[in-house]
Amino acid sequence: MTDSTKTLCPYCGVGCGLEVLPPAQPGKPINRDSAGTPIWQVRGDRAHPSSQGMVCVKGATIAESLNKDRLLYPMLRDTLTQPFRRITWEEAFDCIVQRMQTVRYTQGPEAICMYGSGQFQTEDYYTAQKLLKGCLGTNNFDANSRLCMSSAVSGYIQSFGADGPPCCYDDLELADCAFLIGTNTAECHPIIFNRLRKYHKQNRHVKMIVVDPRETATAQAADLHLAIRPGTDIDLMNGMAHLLMRWGHFDVSFIDECTANFPAFAQVMQDYTPEMTAQRCGIAVEDLETAARYWGESERVLSLWSMGVNQSSEGTAKVRTLINLHLMTGQIGKPGAGPFSLTGQPNAMGGREAGGLAHLLPGYRVVQNPQHRAELEQFWGLKPGQISPHPGRTAWEMITGLEQGDVGVLWIAATNPAVSMPDLERTKAALKRSPFTIYQDAYFPTETAEYAHLLLPAAQWGEKTGVMTNSERRVTLCQAFRDRPGEAKADWEIFAEVGRRLGFAQQFAFTTSAEVYAEFAQVTRDRPCEMTGLSHERLRVKGPAQWPCRDSGQVKPGEPARLYQELRFHTPDGRARFGAYHSRGLAERPDPEYPLVLTTGRLYGHWHTQTRTGRIEKTRQMHPNPFLEIHPRDASELGLQDKDWVEVRSRRGLARFPVTVTKAIAPGTVFVPMHWGFLWADQAEANALTHPECCPDSKQPELKACAVQLVPI
Ligand code: SF4
Repeated sequence: MTDSTKTLCPYCGVGCGLEVLPPAQPGKPINRDSAGTPIWQVRGDRAHPSSQGMVCVKGATIAESLNKDRLLYPMLRDTLTQPFRRITWEEAFDCIVQRMQTVRYTQGPEAICMYGSGQFQTEDYYTAQKLLKGCLGTNNFDANSRLCMSSAVSGYIQSFGADGPPCCYDDLELADCAFLIGTNTAECHPIIFNRLRKYHKQNRHVKMIVVDPRETATAQAADLHLAIRPGTDIDLMNGMAHLLMRWGHFDVSFIDECTANFPAFAQVMQDYTPEMTAQRCGIAVEDLETAARYWGESERVLSLWSMGVNQSSEGTAKVRTLINLHLMTGQIGKPGAGPFSLTGQPNAMGGREAGGLAHLLPGYRVVQNPQHRAELEQFWGLKPGQISPHPGRTAWEMITGLEQGDVGVLWIAATNPAVSMPDLERTKAALKRSPFTIYQDAYFPTETAEYAHLLLPAAQWGEKTGVMTNSERRVTLCQAFRDRPGEAKADWEIFAEVGRRLGFAQQFAFTTSAEVYAEFAQVTRDRPCEMTGLSHERLRVKGPAQWPCRDSGQVKPGEPARLYQELRFHTPDGRARFGAYHSRGLAERPDPEYPLVLTTGRLYGHWHTQTRTGRIEKTRQMHPNPFLEIHPRDASELGLQDKDWVEVRSRRGLARFPVTVTKAIAPGTVFVPMHWGFLWADQAEANALTHPECCPDSKQPELKACAVQLVPI
């Protein structure tokens, strides 16, 4: 059999198209993994517009993860100290329904929480929203995207009146200046970076600025690397705005006709003189001026950002300050320009569309808008007032809810919070207190399974058909190509069955994921993310498509590739909003007791908590061990040499690493990767050290920085 199946890479938000072929092909040896097991062949899909056949090592090796350590059957235990015992799905559903009904009627629906994932397909997300927010009447659905890009969501909403990256990947090859801040794109979004670097190399006039405390692979390719002190992003951008204003590099007519609140912003930026800004950021005045000059003298400026901006206690303010630069210079709504958030996960964008955060509802609606709630209540056939007007618990608020005894059922799906949450000692202690935790995942063991009472086996990539949206708003149908192992079910099937057994047969009458998607598409009608023109069949036949995609065929100028080319935004008056922010800096600053700033990040070959990449020989060998990067000056003061071990202590916990002494990290800052949980290494959890202080708007924790001390061991 030679037929290939088209799908999407299930790792990062670049969303590269893949083609998958069976292990056996006529006239060729059977494709096998390093252990000799036959595995499916994976190659880039040349016809996919986002990636044009390119893949990185993670996408190329994904098939090897399908057969390893799969969770095959539902399993149950009464207490966390007992071993799991296999049960049937019938018993599992009875158990879930009985638990949920008991909690609903004794503690109320607000005691039920679900923590989902950017690994969900849109159908999984949508069904979960309908179950929790609609039928059960609690908005306690949040996703690991809260830890990833919720600051980008709130920044876009506050500045433009709606979420949604306005740019597309073709803008990478149309910009005159690329401003990358808080993103190690070369390692975390490699195919996007390859496109940008190739274009940058071939076009000498194109400038690339990288803002990062580390000299990452991304920074090494830049014309200008600004190694600012952690937490000074807003200072830097306000300082650039000050210079752009002083030099007359601003677009008066755009500011006048398309924006509001400029005077308040102008007042703030007056304070950010070059000398003061450079001193705060720890950079040279000349470098600040060069950055402002590159931006001001470029016809088209594209900015890219990811976790370095979002994972901050002032994440929304950082996003809006970056958007301010675009607004004051008119760098939006045209090819090659705009503020472009790079999403971390493969379907974090689909989650946003389906309302998969505790303050959102499907179709780019928000919980606190009465009209939005009423529209969905009517659409879902629910009584008026069924949807709660209160935003639900965010990721960290679920942990504090467990601490306070306010959570009766915690349902975790397709994510591994026992590694990825901040302040892990506190997180794990809270998880231990959970009266009943359902953990739905494709793999076993995982760190989070240690804290579960009921395990549900989930079908994953290649085993269920559904839709994902990548960073450029491009929707791809991910088609199943292999049998599900054991008794695994698709996430949406599990949610729908629970819904039916809770008495909502009419709401969950779906028999296929295509039906779920068809209903979801209707929910987006007349919304900014409208995709009524899309269906599984349309995506299968015609291939991936960007939204907006309306069944009316109506398109505005520039759509669907770019938003806002009409220079009208989704605010009531159609104007984008400047946000005026002074920097507050890090939530936890270094002091004599904890004198260094720890920053965390990702490595090229690994994905999140290694649930997949730790089980793939090639990616595991690329990054076999955790490590800590330290500048030679700091290493010398501590008497440390390369490969010596240190104990890293914060106010919350400790971890141990061998050190890598390198000038790639600035003095005063140390770096560790976040991929290692206790399954993969002993005491090397980056998040044992981090704190849960959140951005007040996005509720995204500051996973990127905390104060630590180092003790040689
Ligand atoms: Fe997959 Fe991202 Fe690599 Fe593309 S860049 S192959 S989406 S991990």
